[in-house]
Amino acid sequence: MRTAKKMSILASILLLAIIGYYIYLYFEPDPQRISYNEFITAVDEGKVAKVYLDDGDMLKGEFQDGSQFITDNPRKEGFKEELLKKGVAVDEMSRRTQIRDTGSFLITMGVFAGFLYFLSTKTVRQAQGGMGKISSISVYPEEEKKVTFDDVAGMDEARESMREIIDFLKNPEKYARYGARLPRGIILYGPPGTGKTLLAKSVAGEADVPFYAVSGSDFVQVYVGVGAGRIRDLFKKARENGKCVIFIDEIDALGKKRDRGIDGGGNDERDQTLNALLAEMSGFKDNEGIVVIGATNRLDVLDPALLRPGRFDRHIEVGLPDVKGRYEILKLHSRGKPLSKNVDLYKVAQQTVYFSGAKLESLMNEAAILAAKRDSGFIEQADIDKAFYIVIAGLEKKDRSTIDRMDREVTAFHEAGHALVTKLIAPQHRVSKVTIIPNTKGMGGFSMNIPPDRMYYRKRDMESSIKIALAGRAAEEITFGQDNITTGASNDLERATETLLDMIRRLGMGKGTGLLNYDVLYSNGIRQVSDEVLAQCKQTMESYYEEVKSLLLMHRDVLKAVATALLEKETLDEEELDRIITECHKRRVTA
Ligand code: ADP
Ligand code: ZN
Repeated sequence: MRTAKKMSILASILLLAIIGYYIYLYFEPDPQRISYNEFITAVDEGKVAKVYLDDGDMLKGEFQDGSQFITDNPRKEGFKEELLKKGVAVDEMSRRTQIRDTGSFLITMGVFAGFLYFLSTKTVRQAQGGMGKISSISVYPEEEKKVTFDDVAGMDEARESMREIIDFLKNPEKYARYGARLPRGIILYGPPGTGKTLLAKSVAGEADVPFYAVSGSDFVQVYVGVGAGRIRDLFKKARENGKCVIFIDEIDALGKKRDRGIDGGGNDERDQTLNALLAEMSGFKDNEGIVVIGATNRLDVLDPALLRPGRFDRHIEVGLPDVKGRYEILKLHSRGKPLSKNVDLYKVAQQTVYFSGAKLESLMNEAAILAAKRDSGFIEQADIDKAFYIVIAGLEKKDRSTIDRMDREVTAFHEAGHALVTKLIAPQHRVSKVTIIPNTKGMGGFSMNIPPDRMYYRKRDMESSIKIALAGRAAEEITFGQDNITTGASNDLERATETLLDMIRRLGMGKGTGLLNYDVLYSNGIRQVSDEVLAQCKQTMESYYEEVKSLLLMHRDVLKAVATALLEKETLDEEELDRIITECHKRRVTA
């Protein structure tokens, strides 16, 4: 802000100086008016230094002492020669040169005004955005080499979800014929460097439509109203070309949850920009063939208005790759690189836990640079090892500490506990995926497909879901001891408590707490029952937890086998999980 002020003061001074100079030139001391005879005499006496010959009726000149005069100019032809012969300098000022002079004045002023405008925009931006990033938005399709699915490795699920979009972009008429409306907006969410931009680009490449890329932060550091205008501009340009993919990186910059409080909620500029975006999106004709893809690191910070049906209603997680994914990415980024035979990329994949695709790409690049420096023809394992430390050193400390063996082991047992207990007590649930790769919510991940929404949940199902939630902590405790349990269960406990409270407070499913809705009691001022509910919750939770622990102790061998497989492969699908469980049972029967 202070530098902004200084700049504008400086600019004003400069402007005044320039204007002053031109004023001086235009209003320089009035020349003395002399008669033609006096003029001729002065010339003869050698008092005239210079004459400006004009094609008008008057002429202007300068005496030797510097003072100026004007006089009539009755003679035009040959006058110059005569004056020159008498030693008077002659400057022919035709009308054209005069115009050129005013022209140069105008040009100077124009340039200066432009400079001033530039400064003022910059200072306003600085004042508004806190930094002077001048970002121009390219609303022209990127003319890079076409990116296709061949350039994307791993991310099978995310890629699969994109196939439908590609088909839609290729044949919108087909979908129209069936009256199908395809998602207009897709959000890709996940940690940085996991290939969200790459995936969006490949969708455009696969469908062979133009790709327009902008960043959400480009829209907010400008004057109020400009962001909205830029959005309209972008869509106008895109529409003129027909089908296309519009990619908005950092979409959270313009669609963040409005923070209530302090300034009473809301940043006008952001709201206007967001509203313009939503208006443009709802203005699409169905099957117009424009798909908007937004990317963000976190889904939960986005304004719900952005996520409602008909807007960005499809959300695809693009997580960190597991060992198989890393292997694929490493293979892809070794294309065209002369790898020595001693390099085992699978081993490299195993050593690069928590690496994103971008980090893997930079790993292979650093290794190639090291090899090129040595120039012995091949990239050796030693180059990759050295590159590994270069890449790791560039990471934030926080990032580095997660690459910790103990963490992985705890996570593996924790997730194995969830998965195993699901299989044991709720076989109707499908465990679609177990992984120790952290997701956007924190620790490892475990995903379960709960059978399709029912109108009613049975008490048994609710109890099962509580026990499954408790199984992570239980597995940690029986494996590493009570003193080594971790914070990894915090989400689980939250969910378990919510479900249990529901059962007791609203659904009349508690023991000894009756068929009462405690919310109604509280809202009527009857509050002394809360201790009873709390005691009941604690006791029930305790008994569920003991039950889960003894269940896991009974199947300790299976728990260990699943955890071991997780440590090795990082992700297991349902088939692999089932196979491990069956193998353990077989071994037990034969033992
Ligand atoms: P994001 O948009 O998620 O931050 P990018 O798409 O910009 O990540 O990824 C940066 C670079 O990392 C890509 O250009 C590519 O070289 C590499 N990369 C990331 N993920 C992958 C992947 N799944 N397959 C191949 N390369 C990848
Ligand atoms: Zn858990």
